[in-house]
Amino acid sequence: MSFFKTARPFVIAGPCSAETREQVMETAHALSAMKVQLFRAGIWKPRTRPGSFEGNGPQALEWLQEAKQTYHIPLTAEVAEPAHIELALKHGVDVLWIGARTTVNPFQVQHLADALKGVDIPVMIKNPVNPDVDLWQGAIERFEKAGISNVAAIHRGFSGYSAAAGYRNQPNWPIPIELKRRKPELAIICDPSHITGKRSRIAEVSQKAMDMHFDGLMIETHPRPEEAWSDAAQQVTPETLKEILANLVVREEYTQDMTGLIQLEYLRQLMDSLDAEIIDLVAKRMELSEQMAEVKRACNMTAYQPARWREIVETRSERAQAHQLSKEFIVELYEKIHHESIRKQLAILENATKEIKK
Ligand code: PEP
Ligand code: MN
Repeated sequence: MSFFKTARPFVIAGPCSAETREQVMETAHALSAMKVQLFRAGIWKPRTRPGSFEGNGPQALEWLQEAKQTYHIPLTAEVAEPAHIELALKHGVDVLWIGARTTVNPFQVQHLADALKGVDIPVMIKNPVNPDVDLWQGAIERFEKAGISNVAAIHRGFSGYSAAAGYRNQPNWPIPIELKRRKPELAIICDPSHITGKRSRIAEVSQKAMDMHFDGLMIETHPRPEEAWSDAAQQVTPETLKEILANLVVREEYTQDMTGLIQLEYLRQLMDSLDAEIIDLVAKRMELSEQMAEVKRACNMTAYQPARWREIVETRSERAQAHQLSKEFIVELYEKIHHESIRKQLAILENATKEIKK
């Protein structure tokens, strides 16, 4: 079984940065009495702009090593260069993690994977800052190919230009879900601290991650969060972490409850036939669209007609709202359908253009 599936949730906690020996020891002491599998602390901090606190480097590794010896809590630290790996291994770090700003760079990821040849230490790979599932999967595969047998993904959200919907990093849930579909055995850990950027929302996002079948949580924890040298707004105290974990409802993918299973099976059969109807209807809609393309070709009209698209958005979202469906959802769905329809029509017009030019 994966090292990361030995507890559910698999909890990783500790400060954003290892600031002082006292802060490291105090946090590790508090966490060692709780259901926490790994103690995290940033040693080298990838800061967006120069001049912010960039970590204490090798000296902080000694504090971590002391915390491990004193409180018997396994350690994890972010590594971004082969030299970091060497130092982390020398100081007894048990699990390595790759930060979001490193995952975007395949050259650097490969250097790190090469530095681990012959060393089978568990590695956690944060999603890249941009919402690219292939890049995330690629980084994971580089470590798997290097012989790392315990790999986990960490979902920490994706950068956007503005803090839309109140997140520091957009969760984009379909991306970790797609990763899990492609790699069903992979453990996925959610980092609600970097997703939300604010401690008041950590509990809510942690619960959501559990309900989305995530395996674990990485939560930044500091004895005095408001005084933290980095990420002060999102860290929680060990007491708050304890409360968050105690209030989590942990649900399972499967059940032994026969009544529930029978009800679910009945509803799933209904849903299967509805889905079949939906697909048949979409196919019919595409056929109509091709017939329309013939008319547009004959009358020399464009495939895309902005006024018609505006009308579709308006009428379909009105209908959706009457069914309590969100406008954003239905518009997104129609964007996809309409785009495919236009693609088919463009192909018909393109052929007609070729004919004319012959
Ligand atoms: C962190 O965990 O403190 C960190 C720097 O994370 P990320 O790589 O997700 O920005
Ligand atoms: Mn942080």
